[in-house]
Amino acid sequence: MRQFLILCLGLVCLSYAHADEKTTLYDFRFWTSPERTRIVIDVEKGVQYHVNTNADKIDLAINNAKLLSQTYDKLFYQDQRIQKTRIKRNKDTLHFLFKTTQPYQVKSYTLKPNQKYRHHRLVIDLYGKQINTVPVTITKQVIKKLSTTKLRKKIILIDAGHGGEDPGAIGHKRSKEKHITLKIAKKLANKINRTKGMKAILTRRGDYYVGLSKRIRIAQANNASLFISIHADSVKRKSAKGASIYTLSERGGSTKFAKQLEQSQNAVDQFGGIETLIKGDQYLNKILWDFSRKDRDIQSRKLGAKILKQMGKIGYLHKQTPQKAGFVVLKTPAIPSVLVETAFISNPQEEKRLNNAKEQNKIANAIYQGILSYYQ
Ligand SMILES: [Zn+2]
Repeated sequence: MRQFLILCLGLVCLSYAHADEKTTLYDFRFWTSPERTRIVIDVEKGVQYHVNTNADKIDLAINNAKLLSQTYDKLFYQDQRIQKTRIKRNKDTLHFLFKTTQPYQVKSYTLKPNQKYRHHRLVIDLYGKQINTVPVTITKQVIKKLSTTKLRKKIILIDAGHGGEDPGAIGHKRSKEKHITLKIAKKLANKINRTKGMKAILTRRGDYYVGLSKRIRIAQANNASLFISIHADSVKRKSAKGASIYTLSERGGSTKFAKQLEQSQNAVDQFGGIETLIKGDQYLNKILWDFSRKDRDIQSRKLGAKILKQMGKIGYLHKQTPQKAGFVVLKTPAIPSVLVETAFISNPQEEKRLNNAKEQNKIANAIYQGILSYYQ
């Protein structure tokens, strides 16, 4: 599924519910990533809350809250950041007291219901001191790419689509795309790491969400030579089947989401780097930029075709040639990038196949063989 990411803005949204209406807390979910712990609570629209932090204590106070008994137990989550949770009622306000292992920065905001979540959601993120730990090194990277013909070791970025609060597409047997993509990604990474002269880096290693621009920054910061994003497709029609490959289209920025991201600060950093490559010579900048983009697109299509050919040997192809699309994860300047839709999770037979370890290994191997033949 390719329509992913909710753009999370660090806004605290407080709106007002009637005083006599209780805010039901339907569910709690916790996601731990190397960067943060995300607490998600399914709530009613217009939840009134505030967050107070004091050293290693976080007090999340929700006004007029009603806690469902079946969700009570889910609250007592422990991870590398949360040591202990307590609940305290003060008149109409329910306090969730999190004792943390050290002081953390806290961001909170609400999200509206979507296709995957029918409730409004209250999100609390606990971060370490530095939120952005991956530096943007596009300028250096582009210069290096243009000036050296061969890199010492080929770094292949493997991106397991979705994760954490974003399950991706969901099959008829309720299997989630995010789990399948991670399994295939890990299998592919193992194959690459056993290959001389190649090294795989995963954008995520567990069940947590990584923002799309962060995925790109990981690729750039690691000086990646290829970027491969792994997904499973989904449509309403159950019979749709087979693999497809997407590469970046220059006109892809017309999608609503791509536009949103381009407007965000991340995108400014993202594409701003090249502007300062050679100060004062805009003409030369443009040539270099066009060159890196065109070369990247040709290489992406070549890589896509090679992988597709291998995918055709192990299963159906949904589309016989690489498709063009403007997905944000493919916007990795100068790095050949493809998005692999491994099969349709919405097709019951393919869903079964996607959950089978042997089949996952076959898919990983087909992508791996495609990478090898691209380099030959
Ligand atoms: Zn997907």
